[in-house]
Amino acid sequence: MSVISNNFDTVAAVSTPRGKGGIAVVRISGENTEKIVEKCFVPYGKPILSRAPRSAVYGKIVNGDDIIDTGICVLFANGASFTGEPMAEISCHGGILVTSRVLEAVIAAGASAASPGEFTKRAFINGKLTLSEAEAVGKLIDADTVSKAELASGAARGNLSRSLSALDGELYGVMTALWAAVDYPEEDVGSEGEDNIYPVVCRVLEGVRRLADTYKTGRAVSDGIRTVICGKPNVGKSSLYNALMGEDRAIVTDVAGTTRDFLEDTADVGGITLVITDTAGIRDSHDEIEKIGIERALTKLEEAELVICMFDMSRGLDSEDEEVLAAAERSAAEKICVINKCDLERKLDDAALKRLGDVFENIVEVSLKDRGAEDGKGGAAALAEKISEMYNSEKLNVNTDAVVWDAAQKASLDRCAEMLAEAKRELERGAPLDVVGVICEGALGEMRMADGAGVSEDIIDGIFSRFCVGK
Ligand code: GDP
Repeated sequence: MSVISNNFDTVAAVSTPRGKGGIAVVRISGENTEKIVEKCFVPYGKPILSRAPRSAVYGKIVNGDDIIDTGICVLFANGASFTGEPMAEISCHGGILVTSRVLEAVIAAGASAASPGEFTKRAFINGKLTLSEAEAVGKLIDADTVSKAELASGAARGNLSRSLSALDGELYGVMTALWAAVDYPEEDVGSEGEDNIYPVVCRVLEGVRRLADTYKTGRAVSDGIRTVICGKPNVGKSSLYNALMGEDRAIVTDVAGTTRDFLEDTADVGGITLVITDTAGIRDSHDEIEKIGIERALTKLEEAELVICMFDMSRGLDSEDEEVLAAAERSAAEKICVINKCDLERKLDDAALKRLGDVFENIVEVSLKDRGAEDGKGGAAALAEKISEMYNSEKLNVNTDAVVWDAAQKASLDRCAEMLAEAKRELERGAPLDVVGVICEGALGEMRMADGAGVSEDIIDGIFSRFCVGK
């Protein structure tokens, strides 16, 4: 399945985070695992190799004559471990010094130090994980929002790989039918299959397009949408930022111009990850520091993918609001208009609402006064719903559905879809089947590329080097 040989040294690393903890785990993987364990681990009772694989064996961890610690060793047999190689995990006490001494003992017994992501890379090379599953393991470890963790966990369990593999199977079926019809035109072997070629090409094309379309949501959850909140001073930007973050981060005061610089953080809003900047209010200011803040806000606005423009229901549209509207109109980002302070007397008249309606397709009304609002989102639930609608229009469940989040995967799927569309057109115009076969072969190659088959060693190394050591 891969271009990479699996002729490896036996490697070891501490797989738990560096720091003090109850226990730490040193992982060993490779051909010489058993020999190394026999040297550095002395069990109480029967020799470890006489026990059943995966038994938890208590013993001493030694470096030559020195006893370093006591702990539990579990041996995994070749083919029945995370990496697919003979493997061992030694649990020792979780101090920084003791874990590095245990690792030293394992290395003294013959292991080499593992490089970042090496265990997961070996699992991929040995066919234990597909590329999307392996990447998902890394994502799961890095996840800082619930939706990111759910997406990664779903992919690590094979949601995406299973969909790709089902489409792959169908397309492969088309290929065999095509080549049978080309190689044995006089025989009837392929006729039934031949009739099926066109509908299956159409079905696979639709499936590939559907999968590629999940990228908008996948990326929105995985990488996050660069979002800017803007609006005139005192409109409720900091209140919104805090409501979305779920904790008090920005300073909320009723003195206009208190947010001088910008805050930036990640929030899970309606299942979508927003990397939100709470900017200084945009207005014509004579205060030098506030001016810098406003300039930075305008720069952030240019870089944003989503701009949340806030207006105040309890005040009429004024020249400061007009500046916000002008900035919004200039921005190429997606936009949402949030009309805040709906608990107060309505001062935005119909003409003002029409003006907002002309600029914004998406408008929500909220009241952010009450952090303990019944909607559980500090009054911002309507906004969360709108964001989910915009970025997850298919209502994907990122934990159970197949979702693409990687740009390279999306590009492979797009190329695959282009080729299938071409194959479909060629079939429609009655092109020779060998021509269609060549196009479908290209499409199958792209589909396989999307899940890591045939990708180059450089790319594999690049992916796994982003992991931490021990993973
Ligand atoms: P910013 O300057 O745009 O960041 O605005 P803040 O979030 O600091 O809010 C300005 C003032 O308006 C504060 O006193 C908030 O408590 C108040 N405020 C924010 N949202 C609402 C709302 O929905 N209703 C009411 N009545 N007051 C609000």
